Amino acid sequence: MEFKKVVKDAEFFDPFNEFKLTKRATEIRIDPLFGRSVRIIYFPVTLPPPPDQRPIADATKPFCPFCRPAVFERTPKFVKDLVPEGRIEAGGSVLFPNAFPYDAFSGVGVVGEEHFVPMDSFTPEVFSDAFSAACNFIGRVYKKYPEYRHHSINMNYMPTAGGSIIHPHIQVIAGDIPTNYQRELAERAGNYGKKHKKDYFEELVSEEEKLGERFIAKEGGIVFLASFASMGITEFLAVFEGGQEMTAVGDKVKEKFNALISGIRSILAYLHSLNFASFNMSIYFADPESPEYPTHMRIVPRTHLPPMGASDINFFEMLHHEVLTIIKPEEAAEGARAYFKA
Ligand SMILES: [Zn+2]
Repeated sequence: MEFKKVVKDAEFFDPFNEFKLTKRATEIRIDPLFGRSVRIIYFPVTLPPPPDQRPIADATKPFCPFCRPAVFERTPKFVKDLVPEGRIEAGGSVLFPNAFPYDAFSGVGVVGEEHFVPMDSFTPEVFSDAFSAACNFIGRVYKKYPEYRHHSINMNYMPTAGGSIIHPHIQVIAGDIPTNYQRELAERAGNYGKKHKKDYFEELVSEEEKLGERFIAKEGGIVFLASFASMGITEFLAVFEGGQEMTAVGDKVKEKFNALISGIRSILAYLHSLNFASFNMSIYFADPESPEYPTHMRIVPRTHLPPMGASDINFFEMLHHEVLTIIKPEEAAEGARAYFKA
């Protein structure tokens, strides 16, 4: 497996250093599976502490449709032949149809009863309940409509990451048409297997474990890494060992959720320590028809960039499909490791 990096130096006379000739590096990395390039840019900014989220939490709480009892009064109900009871409940989580759906089967699951949860304060129970409700929903769809086999749990935490409601929630999608990512992953991993006679993700995990630079932990049959070519400012990847058996509708994946949740909480605690207060997360469930496509998860922190509060997404990502990374994966792995040991 090739982890290809190219460094490009820009030279200029630096006004902040008496106009001395200065070299500044941009590192271009090629993702070993997708072949796409990402750029690690020079952006030596320490994020300031995020603005206090409590005022917006307090202001939105009286109108929140996800708080109790509103969640039982003001959220949609599923059609009777799919979910006869209307909504799916698991512990503190309630899952119901998305009123603004992304697909034919598009659910929203409330993550805990608390309206506002700081990024480093999620309990294992709230994630466990929400994931359990999500798998229950996916299972019911899959039983009735097995062609809807592309399953994912997704989260936009806080408005900076695209979340339009402060109350923590997940988006659960079961589609017959894969997303671009899901389609490309199945194709690329399948082709990799044919070409190299090896499973891409098994190979990735074993290479990363050997190199150690981006390897974070292996816990409960899940391997946590910082991705070589990030999908954002930096990115964490968790790969479920056991491949095809780890579908959202099987029991085996549920046995591993505790280890996944423990890892998610460690990653969020690390990101919180860097003053991030927002993130996107996706859990992509194994595709039963693509043996090389294991269940895996990615988390990317989101932020506004100082000093103007600029968006962390610009023309590069929007119009060139090229991600800009500001935290080196190797540094992110080192930082996160401490929180996995804690
Ligand atoms: Zn609420």
